[in-house]
Amino acid sequence: MDCIFCEIAAGRAPASIVYQDDEVMAFMDIIPVLPGHLLIIPKAHYRNVFDAPPEITGKLMETAARLAPALRQATGCAGLNCHIANEAAAGQEVWHLHLHLLPRYPGDGFGFRFPSGYGRRASRPELDEMAERIRQALHALA
Ligand SMILES: [Zn+2]
Repeated sequence: MDCIFCEIAAGRAPASIVYQDDEVMAFMDIIPVLPGHLLIIPKAHYRNVFDAPPEITGKLMETAARLAPALRQATGCAGLNCHIANEAAAGQEVWHLHLHLLPRYPGDGFGFRFPSGYGRRASRPELDEMAERIRQALHALA
């Protein structure tokens, strides 16, 4: 077992724990992007949203919603991002599903970078075609 988040979940590696129950744990990111940066993980090992049961991913978001007011009060943050990176192309670096709870502050310098060309409004046919492809995949995977 060389998954650091499994080690933390099992209590075999140190972490500054904010919250835990039978299914999830929230602890401070060891390399915080901004003060108050929290990670929420399932205690069971899943690689990311592609292999975790939807209920588990949902539990992460539910926990984020429960922690958000306390995180805001404790940090004085002005905003909050909830982020899950799934696979390397999306920036995943630790291969155990985790949700970032990232307090935001005015002028904090962090942000999403949009691809060049962003800003063009998609046409309705383009959107309808993609929606149809996704609906077909949803049925095929059900
Ligand atoms: Zn793990």
